[in-house]
Amino acid sequence: METILVLTHVDDGGAALTRASLETVTAGLELSRQSGSSFAIGILGLDAEAAAGAVAATGARLFAVSGEAFAQARYATDAAGCEALCRAAQATLILAPASARFARIAAGVAHRLGGVIDTHIADVQMASNAGGQAIEATRWFYRQRIEAVIGRELRPWFLLLDAGTHAAYAGEPVAAQVESIAVAVPAVRTVVEGFRAPMRGTQTIRPDARLLFVAGAGWTKKQPDGQVHVSEAGEQILSFLRLSGASLGSSKSLTDQKADGQAGEDQPVLPFLTHLNQIGQTGSTPRHPKGLSTCCHGEEPHAVGWRFISERRAISLDANCGWTRGKADVVYVADAFQVMARVNALLEARKP
Ligand SMILES: Cc1cc2nc3c(=O)[nH]c(=O)nc-3n(C[C@H](O)[C@H](O)[C@H](O)COP(=O)(O)OP(=O)(O)OC[C@H]3O[C@@H](n4cnc5c(N)ncnc54)[C@H](O)[C@@H]3O)c2cc1C
Repeated sequence: METILVLTHVDDGGAALTRASLETVTAGLELSRQSGSSFAIGILGLDAEAAAGAVAATGARLFAVSGEAFAQARYATDAAGCEALCRAAQATLILAPASARFARIAAGVAHRLGGVIDTHIADVQMASNAGGQAIEATRWFYRQRIEAVIGRELRPWFLLLDAGTHAAYAGEPVAAQVESIAVAVPAVRTVVEGFRAPMRGTQTIRPDARLLFVAGAGWTKKQPDGQVHVSEAGEQILSFLRLSGASLGSSKSLTDQKADGQAGEDQPVLPFLTHLNQIGQTGSTPRHPKGLSTCCHGEEPHAVGWRFISERRAISLDANCGWTRGKADVVYVADAFQVMARVNALLEARKP
């Protein structure tokens, strides 16, 4: 029988658990129900006890490591805190969100406990195999072309879950009984003075957004009037992102233009795009419930990056583009400049 521990941490505000933590709670809860294993949640943060109410309705045993030393992400203190939580829970299977904070320390903590770790986990469940029932984790390899199913006998077994693979736990907050764990804070050499976030406010990649908005190279191409309208394109795209909260993806052709344009090709470019926005075979494979492609042809190397986008729509002038060939649910054969201007006007009018 396993003892499952979900490791969680509070967000930058210090009061609530992060969304990725709550997604991992869902995974742990489902697995404990399937396997009949005991279930615990460990919380790390400045005031971890205060955040516990949000997950108390799971019925899990709750452990907290609190204090000034755990207010900020820092290897020495986070690793010591998580190690203490794992020891207190006597966990055999530890699920943790692949947040920047935990991805940094999880392998080190697994090593300290003599355990093993697997990362980029998309699912974990009880499965029947030849020898009976066993816990299996799944993850993708080779740009989501191969799905591997992993089982291990060694314990403790750490699994880092990718964000977006489970719904965030959303039980009613209730009064929590929390076991506070005392940690001998290790010698600290790193002082966190604050955060410096580039592009704050103009951030275009938003992993938690419900919608992925993809811009293709068509936005910078000559339009039916024989002219390019790149500044209008940029304004429309940024307005839509601001009004809808969508995350911005791009085709390779469009992000490459930026690089080439800087290398001397006399082509106007969209200055806010980087290769981090690129979706596809040689780009990213984000997880958003919905996607809207604009001015993009929907070729296979691009569309493979949409593997985890369930509802797909596209706006393209070309009735024979890849999206119309089974890659999107709805394709509007229309001018994206006109459609997005109208959509933005409607969103603007609805603004509270
Ligand atoms: C090994 C390899 C790896 C690759 N990896 C990737 C990858 O990771 N990601 C990726 O994206 N690509 C990748 N590609 C490139 C991919 O094959 C395509 O070349 C690329 O996706 C095309 O980008 P696009 O559709 O934006 O541009 P285009 O093919 O130029 O299409 C532009 C589209 O915009 C439409 N359009 C123009 N104006 C308007 C308007 N006003 N309204 C509506 N529609 C309009 C046009 O009809 C056209 O369909 C890869 C290719 C190779 C060979």
